[in-house]
Amino acid sequence: MYKIAVAGTGYVGLVAGVCFAEVGHQVTCVDIDEAKVNLMKSGVSPIYETSLEELMQKNYAAGRIDYTTDFKSAYKDADAIFIGVGTPEQPDGSANLSYIATVARQIAESVEKDCLVVVKSTVPVGTNDKVEQFIQDFLVNGVRVEVASNPEFLAQGSAVQDTLHAERIVIGTESKWAEDLLMKIYEPFHLPIVSVNRRSAEMIKYASNDFLALKISYMNDIANLCELVGADIQDVAKGMSYDERIGSKFLNAGIGYGGSCFPKDTKALEYIARQNGYELKTIKAAIDVNKEQKTMLYKKASKSLITFNLLKVAVLGLTFKPGTDDLREAASLENIPLLLEQGANIFAYDPVGAENFSKVHPEGKGGRGSITYVSNIEHALQDANVCFIFTEWGEVKAVTPENYKDLMRTPLVYDGRNLYRLEDMQNAGVEYHSIGRKSTV
Ligand code: NAD
Repeated sequence: MYKIAVAGTGYVGLVAGVCFAEVGHQVTCVDIDEAKVNLMKSGVSPIYETSLEELMQKNYAAGRIDYTTDFKSAYKDADAIFIGVGTPEQPDGSANLSYIATVARQIAESVEKDCLVVVKSTVPVGTNDKVEQFIQDFLVNGVRVEVASNPEFLAQGSAVQDTLHAERIVIGTESKWAEDLLMKIYEPFHLPIVSVNRRSAEMIKYASNDFLALKISYMNDIANLCELVGADIQDVAKGMSYDERIGSKFLNAGIGYGGSCFPKDTKALEYIARQNGYELKTIKAAIDVNKEQKTMLYKKASKSLITFNLLKVAVLGLTFKPGTDDLREAASLENIPLLLEQGANIFAYDPVGAENFSKVHPEGKGGRGSITYVSNIEHALQDANVCFIFTEWGEVKAVTPENYKDLMRTPLVYDGRNLYRLEDMQNAGVEYHSIGRKSTV
């Protein structure tokens, strides 16, 4: 059992902290957000992730996890301090490392015994060399502090499962001491560990995320071509998926990738390449395709509808994907302002994301239109002139083609997630537009 501190209680930090506690370590999670800390202490998770709250309560009751804003007490005698603070994108595409720098400074001023600092946040290659130097420059006590890289591969929506049953753990270290300590901390997880040097670990994270983003953009690019040449992207994807070299995952065409990671990590790697005098053409293409793809359905709809003014528009799904309350880089954030500007009266449904979304677009008038948040899908669809599907929540998938036909004033559906079979929509009498397939009228 090790004494572990975790800096940052977002999707990465909190899930890591809880999972470390679950396998028996003694964990203190640190956040600067006092309201969040109080919430967690009362057993409530500030983020939505399956089984997270349950494990928080179980491990808190067992005395294996605590939450605090007092970083000094958490860091001073920790064996390892994991950093999971944000590294958001800056206007030029580079990663903002100021949160990492603040934590590094706080660590340097707090540690009273030898410890390993483990960076879980996604940081540009070479950052951890600098973090180590930075900590050493500001160290108050003469103790040994080393920095390791341990990039995180969890996906929001299945974060706990992904952590406890990860396909691999990547550790990047520069000494045997650091490597041994990280190996021992991860031993109780019984998972494959890939041990490399720090820079390679940092690159593995970007190369993995960007490959997946590229795969999505590639399928979206092919989907757009399918529409033009009369092919069907779902049949194409099915045919491709049997090839083991391609694999069956991440072949779904749609309205582009969102979330906090793919958009910023593609831009960050492209930026890193540019800084090094190299042009990453493939990643640049993935970024461009994704940007266009996000408003593809809106553009299609505005061509055929001419105006959204005074139309009742049902929006199903707001989050960037199901299973999370996260809205970062969600397609809804791009499309809803366009619809409001055009005078649409939006009725939006999302099982968990509406509250966060209403902070950005408060209920009521917006632009020339308005937005209302509804807690059931029927209410959104009732008498609607058009429906947009942005997120493939189970509740949205459960809506039948007949429901659109029966409830809507005009059964016109723009589906960014290709949830329905064309013939089912056709048979129900729904005008249905999706991605990479022909439309039914
Ligand atoms: P997040 O924004 O959800 O959480 C960051 C947390 O850090 C916030 O609660 C914030 O209050 C806290 N914080 C900021 N400064 C702090 C400080 N000085 N001390 C303690 N806490 C502090 O971020 P996230 O989505 O968990 O992402 C964190 C990092 O992990 C990023 O680099 C991201 O790219 C990477 N990552 C994220 C995911 C994901 O799915 N979200 C997956 C893999 C990797």
